[in-house]
Amino acid sequence: MLQNWLKESKYTVVFTGAGMSTESGLPDFRSSNNGLWRKKNPSKIASTEALNENVQEFIEFYKERVLGVKQYGPHKGHFILAKWEKAGIIQSIITQNVDGFHTEAGSKQVAELHGTLQKFHCQSCKKEVDSETFVKQQFCQCGGVLRPNIVLFGEMLPQEAFQKALMESEKAELFIVLGSSLSVTPANQFQLIAKQNGAKLVIVNLEPTEFDSFADEVIHNRKIGDLLEELDHKIKANE
Ligand code: NAD
Repeated sequence: MLQNWLKESKYTVVFTGAGMSTESGLPDFRSSNNGLWRKKNPSKIASTEALNENVQEFIEFYKERVLGVKQYGPHKGHFILAKWEKAGIIQSIITQNVDGFHTEAGSKQVAELHGTLQKFHCQSCKKEVDSETFVKQQFCQCGGVLRPNIVLFGEMLPQEAFQKALMESEKAELFIVLGSSLSVTPANQFQLIAKQNGAKLVIVNLEPTEFDSFADEVIHNRKIGDLLEELDHKIKANE
């Protein structure tokens, strides 16, 4: 079904979550085997509360995450999505991921709903630095703490990315979720907006999500990279 819908749809939007990057080597938050959530509670550490009240733990958590992102990069699935955008098979990506792998793979139309870990800024004077600087020195020359340009639990989504995601969801004829537990609000509203506007909804996730019953197709038993590779071959074979 997904293969046919990909060919038929004139406007396909892909929504990705942390499960998109596990095949790169980065752990997600909630997988039952290796999620970061199993070790620490990110809603406590990746939060404005931790930044203000538990800064050392906050810094250690983000040092570990930045080093993790630097150690890895996009996998075949990210590259296939970038190729599909160029070929007009998909139109855009909405991502919850902060690793920057979609852009690194060459995707251009990407709404990064939760920001990026590639850049940091001073909590006090707002001066922006790259993530390498943060790994070396976690405080700004002015004494303020350096924090990532990402949305922490307790913060609003960046308006520009949010508006873009909203417009893309409304335009979608086909909306494909790849690797998200769909449990973080408000990011988990876009698949419903797409569906309400008449899109076909496909959810690809190793574990069930609470939105599965709204989907036209649910795929639980496949890894994203392998599935995209298989679809890519099938689409090519039929060209
Ligand atoms: P999540 O951790 O809540 O859920 C990820 C889902 O992906 C899980 O349900 C799991 O079953 C599935 N999954 C894992 N590997 C898969 C694979 N290879 N193929 C198919 N499915 C797979 O992730 P979420 O819904 O994105 O929410 C987590 C939040 O944490 C987001 O806000 C995100 O910003 C942040 N986060 C980002 C990264 C990253 O940038 N790579 C990593 C961890 C967390």
